[in-house]
Amino acid sequence: MRRGCISLGEVQCDACKSIIPYPDRYLAVDEKDGKEDDEGETYRYCVPCCLKKGYAHHKVEKGEQILTFFEE
Ligand SMILES: [Zn+2]
Repeated sequence: MRRGCISLGEVQCDACKSIIPYPDRYLAVDEKDGKEDDEGETYRYCVPCCLKKGYAHHKVEKGEQILTFFEE
């Protein structure tokens, strides 16, 4: 399961190991063997890593580009 969250400033990205500053968004996702799996462990990823992994994408809504962590 994917959960879009807001960092309180003490969240570390599990991919690039950088600290995600408040109030940036990050994604909590359950993964097993590098794949999305509800039985796996929870990993946290910053936005650039989500984009790289295909967990996030930009969409345009009402003329504004917004970031979403979920499939349409
Ligand atoms: Zn990252």
